[in-house]
Amino acid sequence: MNKEFLDKQQAALQKQKDRLEQELGTFATKDPSLKGDWDTKFPVEMTQGSNDPEEAAGQVEEYSTELETEFTLETQLKDVQTALEKISKGVYGICEKCNQPISRERLEASPEASICLNCQK
Ligand SMILES: [Zn+2]
Repeated sequence: MNKEFLDKQQAALQKQKDRLEQELGTFATKDPSLKGDWDTKFPVEMTQGSNDPEEAAGQVEEYSTELETEFTLETQLKDVQTALEKISKGVYGICEKCNQPISRERLEASPEASICLNCQK
């Protein structure tokens, strides 16, 4: 794997990382004690208590949707961070399952890929 390609992948990953962190930041706060963990902000109105049960239910629903989104984004962010670490360690682009190189096309399509196409099936 040449340096030029790695640089390109690193730039793409960095961009993805920034975007994910920004997205997470819109509704979650970074947990300062736990590296890489994010907490979804609980709707303010809910902590103040609502007399309308329907409204309260809607807020709970919204909160659980946010938790799901948070989980998805957090997982993506972890993959991106792992890929960045691999670049710095010089082991980027190797499938975690079969130890074979992941195809360049696949890495270009998803720079954070940690397993090859064969192993993903
Ligand atoms: Zn594989």
